[in-house]
Amino acid sequence: MPSTFEQSADVNQLPHHLSERVRVIHDAPLSTEGDFVLYWMHHAVRSHENPAFEKPLDLSFDAAFVHESPVRWAARNSSKPSRPAAECWMFHADAKWSLEHAGVDAEASVRSLINSFFKSIGQTPVDPIFYQTRYWRFAAAANPLNVGCLWDATLKIGLCGDWCQMSRFEGAALSGMAMAGRILNMKIGVPHKLQNLNA
Ligand SMILES: Cc1cc2nc3c(=O)[nH]c(=O)nc-3n(C[C@H](O)[C@H](O)[C@H](O)COP(=O)(O)OP(=O)(O)OC[C@H]3O[C@@H](n4cnc5c(N)ncnc54)[C@H](O)[C@@H]3O)c2cc1C
Repeated sequence: MPSTFEQSADVNQLPHHLSERVRVIHDAPLSTEGDFVLYWMHHAVRSHENPAFEKPLDLSFDAAFVHESPVRWAARNSSKPSRPAAECWMFHADAKWSLEHAGVDAEASVRSLINSFFKSIGQTPVDPIFYQTRYWRFAAAANPLNVGCLWDATLKIGLCGDWCQMSRFEGAALSGMAMAGRILNMKIGVPHKLQNLNA
């Protein structure tokens, strides 16, 4: 075994996503006699770093709000910062489809969901090699107000949150910005462009 390997054989020097998979089972010195390393993989099931598609999908975007489809939001998870490059996508189904498919066989439902995504973008469906589904019952406010934020100018009290705008993390941020706009208007007394969110 080359000495460079010996020097780098410290598990702690591996990146976290590898070191957490490695277990040191004895402290015998590394053999320098051997010709090869036999690696016998038992099994591995990890959703967050395994590829979901064998090859990168040939799409010109990394995320999309999808209209007239059971998929309401699609995102290439592998394009997010600090994610492994393995092609991995996340599809959010809309509330109606999710309710209709609650308790339905995951295999059938995930395929129909993914197929509808490809249909909506006019492409031939690609079968995933790995998928995981989650029925997330309280994922979203059913009827977000989409008003930016609520603001009582007399009491100078406001309310903001994802339920005020779009019912997602992005909506929560926009709602908070709308509220900040209200407060800034109050403090400096000039129109603030963030107020437009509340128009
Ligand atoms: C498991 C999970 C995964 C998610 N994944 C995604 C995703 O991938 N993409 C996406 O866009 N969105 C996702 N969301 C939704 C996203 O997290 C929410 O839309 C967003 O966090 C809402 O932000 P918010 O500030 O409106 O409310 P929250 O983040 O819920 O903040 C409300 C805060 O108010 C506090 N609070 C509540 N009551 C009181 C009280 N009486 N007094 C004082 N404090 C109180 C709470 O402790 C909390 O800190 C996910 C949500 C969950 C639960």
